[in-house]
Amino acid sequence: MICPFCGKEMEKGILSGDGRSRVRWKAGDKKADLSDTLIDSGRVTAVSYTLASFTVESYFCAACKKMIFDTDVKK
Ligand SMILES: [Zn+2]
Repeated sequence: MICPFCGKEMEKGILSGDGRSRVRWKAGDKKADLSDTLIDSGRVTAVSYTLASFTVESYFCAACKKMIFDTDVKK
């Protein structure tokens, strides 16, 4: 993938973590809270889970320090 900011080639990789809680995104400046968890709001659909980890296929631009991945956010 070509970086839309600088035009250089981006590096494909896997973003990962321990997966103990779901990765969520919330508009504004406050993180998702318990009420979001209860209705499963804000879940980032690009994230795949196993019992002990999560992964996201993503592209990283070392020049811009930006990462890009395709996703949706569950309403
Ligand atoms: Zn770039």
